Amino acid sequence: IDAIIIGAGLGGLLSAAHLLQRGKRVLILERLPHAGGRFTAKHFQGVQVSTGAVHMVPFGSSGALAQMLDRLQVPHRFFDADVFGSFYVHGKQYRAQGLLGVLRFLGPRQSWWFIRLGYLMFFSQLPEAELQMPFHRWLERHLKVERNPQLVAFFERISRFALSLELSQVSTREVIRTTRNMFRFGAPAIVEGGCGEITRQLEQHVQALGGELTLSCEVLQIIQRDGRVSGVRVRYKEHGVEEVIEAPLVVSDIGPRATDGLLHNRKVRQADVLKRKPEEESVGGEMPSEVGLHEAVGLKVHILSDVSFIPHRGIMYCLDTKRIAGIVQPTNSDPSLAPAGKHLLITHQVIQSNNVEEERALALADLHMLFGDAFDTHCRVLTMGTYRGEWPVNRMTQGEDLTPTTTIEGLYLVGDAVKPSGFLMVEGVAQSVNHFLDLLDA
Ligand code: FAD
Repeated sequence: IDAIIIGAGLGGLLSAAHLLQRGKRVLILERLPHAGGRFTAKHFQGVQVSTGAVHMVPFGSSGALAQMLDRLQVPHRFFDADVFGSFYVHGKQYRAQGLLGVLRFLGPRQSWWFIRLGYLMFFSQLPEAELQMPFHRWLERHLKVERNPQLVAFFERISRFALSLELSQVSTREVIRTTRNMFRFGAPAIVEGGCGEITRQLEQHVQALGGELTLSCEVLQIIQRDGRVSGVRVRYKEHGVEEVIEAPLVVSDIGPRATDGLLHNRKVRQADVLKRKPEEESVGGEMPSEVGLHEAVGLKVHILSDVSFIPHRGIMYCLDTKRIAGIVQPTNSDPSLAPAGKHLLITHQVIQSNNVEEERALALADLHMLFGDAFDTHCRVLTMGTYRGEWPVNRMTQGEDLTPTTTIEGLYLVGDAVKPSGFLMVEGVAQSVNHFLDLLDA
């Protein structure tokens, strides 16, 4: 074996495909009985219920992931959004075909401020001190926030939906860079067949190239000698047998905390992660930097409905809600994601407290507020899940990411803890793989 990949998430599968293309012998080890990690789906009551992603690719058919799949010749089809988005505000849904469509609900005064902020962000040279500011501070510096509630909600809801972060958790630089990339690449897209279809195609591609994928096989330890990686110790779940597999290259798709744990022969448990105090935690000595780990957390609801609530392929941002930041109706792009004649709706929100029951109750209250009696008459909640700890929305908050290198020679990180600046979610995962390959070539 030339390379071992720990984890068959999107980052692991994309890395494997590239290494195989370079003629390497590759083994992927996945502890679950299926591949795909947080970018796949399970069939539940005729619906593609995803393990993480809302079946959406942030930069659509021209983005980093699409380009990578094209290069690898992995079949895929993305349905780009046909609108910038719609905005539910004042009890009404406003459709914004392009960005300036938001002026319709902002009114003259807030529209003036919207254009002024846009000018400052994209056409002026902001000083370094402003670029480093959390975005809410930057807004407070340039805007009377209490007099512009819908404008603030516009930024807030997009950040919560796209990054799963509050405006206080993301820097002005990162907001500018991700928005620039959104304009550069294009609107988000829904994946035909859902996100599971991408990982399924990648899995087949990897196997067709001779890659080996072992499921239900947990890596227990990363073995190193004299500062160089030499292999891993694994346990096969079916019969409990342990063995050591040697390789000079190990690519970890499981994030810095779990990777660090494996280097110290220690398993990271979800319950321990949830109990920790993030401000006290630092990554162990082997990872690229001694920073605290801040993941992005969220709550997602899958709803099956008899009636359509969103008349387009994009995101409906909810400006008047207490928690839900936005909703997509992916069946508008691919009806096969739900039974015939039904509509799948997926909501997303940031979890703002440790009281999960309260977060769920607030999500339901938002849904009643948005859809009224029609919610009780026509909708069925299929799942309501929280995403945090070792199964978060993002292993590192946007802009705080690490680099793929570690202090152990031959050990690299890929995935959503090493997203380059400006590339969010799976676009960041794809770019993390590009970055890792560049480092390997250097
Ligand atoms: P993962 O998918 O977590 O893969 C890691 C794999 O490693 C897993 O399969 C895991 O089981 C395995 N593993 C862990 N430990 C071990 C071990 N010791 N041994 C062997 N295997 C191990 N992104 C988008 O682009 N669009 C969206 O719409 C979107 N929405 C999201 C909504 C939610 C609620 C969530 C949670 C995420 C969302 N994301 C979205 C983010 C996206 O899902 C992730 O960025 C992406 O799936 C991360 O892939 P990864 O390969 O980095 O990690």
